[in-house]
Amino acid sequence: MTTSRWLAEYAWLPEDSEPTPEVLIEVEDGRITAVTPLQGSTGPEAGVEVLRDATRLPGLTVPGLSNVHSHAFHRALRGRTHGSRGDFWSWRDRMYAVADRLDPDTYLALARAVYAEMALAGVTCVGEFHYLHHRPDGGAYDDPNEMGAALVEAAAHAGIRLTLLDTCYLTSTVSGQPLAGPQRRFGDGDAVRWAERASAFQPTDSHARVGAAVHSVRAVPADQLRTVADWARSRHAPLHVHLSEQYAENDECRVVHGRTPTALLAEHGVLGPDTTAVHVTHPTGADLTLLGDNRTGVCLCPTTERDLADGIGPARQMADAGLRLSLGSDSHAVVDLFEEARAVELDERLRTRRRGHFTSAELLAAATATGHAALGWADAGRIAVGARADLVTVRLDSARTAGVPPVGVFFAASAADVDQVLVDGRVVVAEGRHLTVDVPAELSASIEAVTPA
Ligand SMILES: [Zn+2]
Repeated sequence: MTTSRWLAEYAWLPEDSEPTPEVLIEVEDGRITAVTPLQGSTGPEAGVEVLRDATRLPGLTVPGLSNVHSHAFHRALRGRTHGSRGDFWSWRDRMYAVADRLDPDTYLALARAVYAEMALAGVTCVGEFHYLHHRPDGGAYDDPNEMGAALVEAAAHAGIRLTLLDTCYLTSTVSGQPLAGPQRRFGDGDAVRWAERASAFQPTDSHARVGAAVHSVRAVPADQLRTVADWARSRHAPLHVHLSEQYAENDECRVVHGRTPTALLAEHGVLGPDTTAVHVTHPTGADLTLLGDNRTGVCLCPTTERDLADGIGPARQMADAGLRLSLGSDSHAVVDLFEEARAVELDERLRTRRRGHFTSAELLAAATATGHAALGWADAGRIAVGARADLVTVRLDSARTAGVPPVGVFFAASAADVDQVLVDGRVVVAEGRHLTVDVPAELSASIEAVTPA
């Protein structure tokens, strides 16, 4: 049995509107077994006794952060796509050039570095929206799930949990044009064959679980949507889907199907309490009602949406419609969940020219408990007895956070202020350094290996 005791200068406890000072957190075998606020509950002498074998955590300790939407290989594009004008679609061509160069070995190296970068940023669990299934010409690897296995291994090396969202990707347009060029490696032919391959992948590692994804209404024909949804539902697995990221997707869906992408997904059984729609940047009012009625969650990816010039999703309206909001760094133009969280509020300010749409506690929930639940880890994301011992300690004495009250951390801190990260009770990051991965060196080497000349 491994036990540890941590004394947080401040800890943000569930349901609280602000952090609590001096909290003793006890951990046994990867779970939190006791949470004791010391102020006011113990006398000075008892306090000294309690502190004797506890490790002090200066700063603010929050639950592990959840990165609900990731395409690990997009990290190789950071800073390389700004030289010319363009839009989402021209960016996508650059992304495909990187995708074309990946194999199980180079992807393992790249994803290991990217997931370790996430650990440094306080991410304890990632949802990998994975569609690079096959060889570049579309043929299967000897093990048809070799790429997925590489991602599971990468997360183990980085010390974080992973939900592999095995993505069904069959066509290149809403009207059903076949995959071509670099897209060929994404496809399984049809949803039944996708399900056969996905069913064969059953990692036994305790840090990993498998969910499903519909890439988008562009990439899965309407009559095959239900096959993917049923596969996920029969396993009680999370189901994710890109939704209304682009106007073009909405327009094409209306032309081909006479309805919005949200309405199409609803009609074919994709929406529901275990479903997370990613982006939802351009919904109609009726779409939001439909998503709320089906108790579907939404993952916002504000730094990617701004990087790709996608637009601003109506976050407050979504929350008011009952949609549970979570966050993802998606293309990894930035890996910083503090930045994603405050962007939800700040983008709303730009849109409405008013301030104060989300409380700090709402932003914390989006970055933690709601996100973990969207990835199938409902027992994570809270500093509470019985929860997974994921603890992220943020410095309150850096140039960015000095003088900031603990409750203001989501409006001040960056990923660089994360000092210590505990995942399932194990220290993965200490004093701002990853314990097993040289993150900058591995990022440089792995990105160079897959970057087109
Ligand atoms: Zn995505």
